[in-house]
Amino acid sequence: MHRALLSLAISALFGAVGVASTASAQTGPPVDEESTTAYIEQTVQDADEYWTNWLAGQGLEVKHALFKIVQNGELYVSECSESGTPANAPSAFYCKADVERDGVAYEGVLVLPVDTMLKMRQGSLNNQPSEKAGDFTVATVVTHEMGHWVQDVLVSQKARQPANPGKDVELMADCFSGVWAGAKYNEGRLTAQDFDAAVDSRARFGDEEFTDPNHHGTSGERVTAWATGYFGLKKNPTVDPMNCIDAYWR
Ligand SMILES: [Zn+2]
Repeated sequence: MHRALLSLAISALFGAVGVASTASAQTGPPVDEESTTAYIEQTVQDADEYWTNWLAGQGLEVKHALFKIVQNGELYVSECSESGTPANAPSAFYCKADVERDGVAYEGVLVLPVDTMLKMRQGSLNNQPSEKAGDFTVATVVTHEMGHWVQDVLVSQKARQPANPGKDVELMADCFSGVWAGAKYNEGRLTAQDFDAAVDSRARFGDEEFTDPNHHGTSGERVTAWATGYFGLKKNPTVDPMNCIDAYWR
């Protein structure tokens, strides 16, 4: 049903329509573990603010996600990984087991391996070089994982589930990541370079493992999902998380 619009959105994506036309020169701090940690923290805070506002506007009680940036030399043990997650774990993830820390109850924990994120900023995804990878690759991965937290809040308080509990969960998280990027664009804080990095990351993290329960969607499906968040649906062409729910939570 949304195919016509989505193919339009895709052509717009690859033409990079609707984004700021110039990227500023790279004159920031050195790309190292420390600046990567700071960048991740800033992204989590920014996205947390966006989603907290939206969830509160939906009448939901907001419990934040705990987040852990795993530093070099550390192993982070969670309910989801008893053997621990190192700083160079292949991917970030959201562990939906709730956590209580210092008397505060959190809705799940975001586990963000710093070395893997640093490599993305340096232009490498899954050990493959990418000319488009950069800071916003990291932001897209972080906000995808935060998308799982938003789903978790929706599931626990609205008692609803995605129709397809495998792939659609992943595509919805990509869509939520696109929503956040669209909100950045609306604030004039998204460059063409950021946009390209986000699309490139969704395309490169697609897979064709259709029978694997861990199948995240093909490259095309993942780019389309992100674009659904970023551009909206034909019936509602705005940055609105409801578009993600409409598309992936039938
Ligand atoms: Zn995911």
